[in-house]
Amino acid sequence: MKIRITEIPTEGREIEFSASLESLNKRVNAGHDPTTPASASSPEYIFHGENTASLRLDLHGSSVAVAGNARAQFSAACSRCAEPLERIVEADIDIMLKPKDINNKKKNEDEFEDLGFGFYDGKEVDCADIVEEYLILQLPYAVTCEAASVEECAQAQAALKYYQPEDDSEGDERLAIFKTLKVNDNGKAN
Ligand SMILES: [Zn+2]
Repeated sequence: MKIRITEIPTEGREIEFSASLESLNKRVNAGHDPTTPASASSPEYIFHGENTASLRLDLHGSSVAVAGNARAQFSAACSRCAEPLERIVEADIDIMLKPKDINNKKKNEDEFEDLGFGFYDGKEVDCADIVEEYLILQLPYAVTCEAASVEECAQAQAALKYYQPEDDSEGDERLAIFKTLKVNDNGKAN
């Protein structure tokens, strides 16, 4: 969804559109840093279903103010029990885009770090790019199911039971200590 600045009237312009799911998913998973252990990296999110964005563009000299909101549906696994969960992410968008200084690439990159200010190529504003960026920034660091504790997570319970040895007749003596552990009704080892 690209809007040429020549197509923004002085009274501003309002647009509504949906971001590309393919592009959102490619972008959210590109953020995974291969140098960090899997346990420390962000969980995997899959955008699917509906997403909507509603933006208003206003010219301020050669700068363009982009404001509005976006909303998207995504799925992610519970960080405790891995149960698949459905969630909605919402983002308020408010950014001032300045025309890119083509003679100073380094300067542009430094300033882009500052949320609330960005750049455009001087001709058109990539609204989908802005919406994707904001939605991904709003994703929670971890997603957990409704269960108040790991003991109430149905699948975490099942996993705990799996690690309790059931057959006492043939076991490694080094693991004998684990046989003295009993699981109570809450799934906690005593
Ligand atoms: Zn859970």
